[in-house]
Amino acid sequence: ESKRKTIQSFVRAYPDFPQPGILFRDICPILRDPAALNTVIDLFEEHVKKNHMKVDVVVGIDARGFLFGPLLAQRLGVGFVLVRKKGKLPGSCVSVAYDLEYGKAEAEVQEDAVAAGQKVLLIDDLLATGGTLFAAVELMKKLQAEVLGCLVIIELKDLNGSDKLKPHSVFSIIQY
Ligand code: 5GP
Repeated sequence: ESKRKTIQSFVRAYPDFPQPGILFRDICPILRDPAALNTVIDLFEEHVKKNHMKVDVVVGIDARGFLFGPLLAQRLGVGFVLVRKKGKLPGSCVSVAYDLEYGKAEAEVQEDAVAAGQKVLLIDDLLATGGTLFAAVELMKKLQAEVLGCLVIIELKDLNGSDKLKPHSVFSIIQY
């Protein structure tokens, strides 16, 4: 609990960013503090261990999932895979279109990044409507991977993103 409080103290709220009416939660201060960043990874690792998750691959979501995912993957001794916005990854990719809290987008993963049957953990900084993580779930489905769950630092409860991701579990460090 005190660890969660510490992480919360590193999150800043910015009204009307990137558009009027949006209260943007900024996780950048966590990255400026090595102890706070380490605590985030500790909490994710504890969740994985406590739930006896046998993770084969950590899958991070463009762009802030890339900041935390590789650190967790290293801790778990597994590989890291990137889900990117369309047009950024070379080679054969699978893609899926999805709605954002503000706008539309398309997500992609390299076809050979995850093998059929591998168990994956999805990671991002924040869960809002769940559209982004749902797109990543869809990509994993296309690759016939098994999604063990989703990890985020922040969950915006009012937007019911975790309902959209059911039956997959969502672990969040902070909830608003
Ligand atoms: P969703 O698809 O769940 O509606 O939106 C989540 C995605 O948008 C995540 O990839 C997240 O990085 C980004 N996002 C939306 N709102 C915020 C916010 O307030 N703060 C941060 N850091 N990211 C946000």
